[in-house]
Amino acid sequence: MIAELTHRCPLQCPYCSNPLDLLKAADEKPTDFWAALITEAAQLGVLQIHFSGGEPTARRDLPALIAHATALGIYTNLITSAVLLDEAKLGELARAGLAHVQISIQGANAESADRIGNYRNGHEKKLAIARLVPALGMSLTINAVVHRQNLHELPEMIELAASLGADRLEIAHVQYHGWALRNRAALMPTREALRQADAVVAEQREKRRGSMAIDYVIPDYYADTPKICMGGWGQKLLIVAPDGRVLPCHAAETIPHLAFQHAGAHPLREIWETGPAFTAFRGTGWMREPCASCAFKELDFGGCRCQALALSGDARATDPACHRAPDHENLQHIAADEAGSGITSFHYRRYAHS
Ligand code: SF4
Ligand code: SF4
Repeated sequence: MIAELTHRCPLQCPYCSNPLDLLKAADEKPTDFWAALITEAAQLGVLQIHFSGGEPTARRDLPALIAHATALGIYTNLITSAVLLDEAKLGELARAGLAHVQISIQGANAESADRIGNYRNGHEKKLAIARLVPALGMSLTINAVVHRQNLHELPEMIELAASLGADRLEIAHVQYHGWALRNRAALMPTREALRQADAVVAEQREKRRGSMAIDYVIPDYYADTPKICMGGWGQKLLIVAPDGRVLPCHAAETIPHLAFQHAGAHPLREIWETGPAFTAFRGTGWMREPCASCAFKELDFGGCRCQALALSGDARATDPACHRAPDHENLQHIAADEAGSGITSFHYRRYAHS
């Protein structure tokens, strides 16, 4: 379960996975709502809770929620920009039982990273907190989101993650939903830059084997087969938005005909097992051709529904990342055009642009 406690965040990353319509503090659910939800999640069989946002450390009740989940035997992970943390706050989270911390970096150096996140001195703060995570007995993952404007820094980002004592580095090319879709022309890499990045990752994986695991998420626009989005719609993951709506994926609310239920108003088990949003694209029964008769349909489940809607105008269409999709060639033209656009300015993720 991904618990998005808030959409508030001091950073303004132009590829943020939050929706364009950001929820305000007044829309957020209180502590007793989240505590009751965590209890229900444990009863449903949830094994891990990822506390996320926005910036989850903006919530003062975060230590209490981590302690509650830990007491119920749930593994806890914090996904954070880290800029609101200090040693005392991080220590409080560790004592509450936090097992794992994922810290995002926007680049390999302060100049680049602070420009991309539009937050002065953020990079140095992140590094200072990241160094404390292993010392406090928690596992550390560094999340590096890469795109045309920082991909050349990839070797330095990998070196940086290793120097911070990260157990794992997740290098993820931007996925073009929400804010990233709005900023696509400023973010899309060239095919040649992608090829070079692939080679760097392959070499560094070998070099770091046994010391730091490197996960790598490639950009759909240059792929020939789609990703198994969210591990299969409604099969492994549920996301709870700051206002209590339960979603099958981050971008699901862009699909207009889906109805999302609120935790608290319905039992979590009912939402997960029979709720209309979770059953809409679970399994393969909803598929059309070419997916319906494809040998891979139970491996990738037709790819991403939100991307199919955004690029083909139909959430039931085959993800255009697939070479069998009618819109696949169009996707590659978009990538080539936008990679060469020369656009460098960002439409930052902020309430005024929401
Ligand atoms: S992607 Fe950037 S703006 Fe969005 S929540 Fe994370 S740190 Fe904040
Ligand atoms: S046709 Fe559908 S099921 Fe087959 S590989 Fe493409 S997206 Fe996957």
